[in-house]
Amino acid sequence: MSQTLSKVIRAPRGTSLNTKGWIQEAALRMLMNNLDPEVAEHPDKLVVYGGIGKAARNWESFESIVETLKKLEENETLLIQSGKPIAVFRTHKDAPRVLLANSNLVPAWANWSTFYDLDKKGLFMYGQMTAGSWIYIGSQGIVQGTYETFAECARQHFGGTLKGTITVTAGVGGMGGAQPLAVTMNDGVVIAIDVDRSRIEKRIETRYCETLVESLDEAIQLALDAKKGGRALSIGLLGNAAEILPEMLRRNFVPDIVTDQTSAHDPLNGYLPIGVTLEEGGELRRNNPEEYVKRSKASMAVHVQAMLDMKAKGAIVFDYGNNIRQVAFDEGVKNAFDFPGFVPAYIRPQFCEGKGPFRWAALSGDPQDIYKTDEMILREFADNKQLCKWIKMAQERIAFQGLPARICWLGYGERARVGKIINDMVASGELSAPIVIGRDHLDAGSVASPNRETESMKDGSDAIADWPILNALVNTASGASWVSVHHGGGVGMGYSLHAGMVVVADGTEDAARRLERVLTTDPGMGVVRHADAGYDLAIETAKNKGIHMPMLG
Ligand code: NAD
Repeated sequence: MSQTLSKVIRAPRGTSLNTKGWIQEAALRMLMNNLDPEVAEHPDKLVVYGGIGKAARNWESFESIVETLKKLEENETLLIQSGKPIAVFRTHKDAPRVLLANSNLVPAWANWSTFYDLDKKGLFMYGQMTAGSWIYIGSQGIVQGTYETFAECARQHFGGTLKGTITVTAGVGGMGGAQPLAVTMNDGVVIAIDVDRSRIEKRIETRYCETLVESLDEAIQLALDAKKGGRALSIGLLGNAAEILPEMLRRNFVPDIVTDQTSAHDPLNGYLPIGVTLEEGGELRRNNPEEYVKRSKASMAVHVQAMLDMKAKGAIVFDYGNNIRQVAFDEGVKNAFDFPGFVPAYIRPQFCEGKGPFRWAALSGDPQDIYKTDEMILREFADNKQLCKWIKMAQERIAFQGLPARICWLGYGERARVGKIINDMVASGELSAPIVIGRDHLDAGSVASPNRETESMKDGSDAIADWPILNALVNTASGASWVSVHHGGGVGMGYSLHAGMVVVADGTEDAARRLERVLTTDPGMGVVRHADAGYDLAIETAKNKGIHMPMLG
């Protein structure tokens, strides 16, 4: 069990090293950045985002990782087992400096009750996706994906814009907090419900959400007025989604779009049941966890039933990657899967081209370094109007959290190109310090998650988990700076396996070679995974880009 820590963690900035090389330095700064109070949701508990997604198992482990990284040689590799540093081996210069395996359980034991037991004994940790693999960059990390999802929803159902539409969602935590901003970026109105006032306030401070209200009547009135006037507006509504959605139906209020990003993947730590306040919920969680989980799951069933009822009344409803349909299904809502997940509904074509949430952070801490890379993207991808619109909006509307960082969805070929240019910019001194390049695990070729990224695969291969393992192996072989293999991210124990990678652009020739390899193999796995499943767009991409797939024909 991790005790709380009173000191504030913040990554070092500037160009002097605290370690024996820039790759070790990058790992150190990104670990610390994950726990920066501007970045993490509950840094005192080592919790970064996504329920209890942590950066290290406990504070002793954190301190030991920091000390080990400071001494780590350029031909050594540190091994992390669920947030605890367990060994350093001599490897070689091109090998990853850190290899991480977080939250993995043997399949027949892969459930929350085994997890909670092991976590209680101090043997385990939930790594979520980028929390345990040290490449979380705050809510920005998900904004573009969320923006793209709502944009595609707008294209498919509302003539290309959310103007004049109302979206209702819940959960404005680390990731879910991107929803209000993403909807308003698409010119829509959104009511985003959260039980925790401090979460809504955090989104208002960081300009992700515009206003907080406490009454449903007021939220509906504000939303209807904005809809009528064609204005974009984000409203944070304090309350429990499982109570508010049925209440909306009772008042005959049917939104245009309905989704949810509470941390429903973790019924004990991520979802507040009906009928308790946040404080009462905390007490119940501590004193009677079984009862808490029971009530939490029952509330999710009510929540999903209301989403289904809204769908029946004409709303566009989709699952936003938190496994809430599965819980409702297990609780007896047999048609819980009648509304689709966001990946098959809106994202899969991008995965077929190896596109996904590519990101980079400036180790200098200097925002100018990111603004210079923004200019480079605008120049290099001037033909890609959608991407340019995103970069400009991000510059205007996204407040950096922790080390300045940027995200944009890039595909096969594009990532390697950008990696090379960034490395050249570091080498020439145009950027003041090295840049780390990484991505979410939610990517084209790095996840097996049948209720999310691999839902409804064309060939029925949803549950095959060889792919993320091959992804981690090939990225290790290619010389990524750190590589991670996780279980349970996004959707909870038993429902996903996924891999992460980060590669450092320090301006050296060695880095140039590694970047070219890793930023090819990594998105390449996305194309290959989807081509193998029979998607025409992926097959075409593989052929056009010359990816060698021996049995592609
Ligand atoms: P988080 O734990 O930081 O935030 C969850 C929020 O839900 C909290 O603010 C909490 O107060 C609120 N909440 C809990 N129960 C509620 C209820 N009954 N009614 C209203 N609000 C309630 O988590 P996060 O990082 O924002 O992630 C949210 C979920 O989305 C997770 O399940 C995560 O795995 C998933 N996720 C989805 C994507 C995606 O792209 N779709 C990406 C990452 C994570």
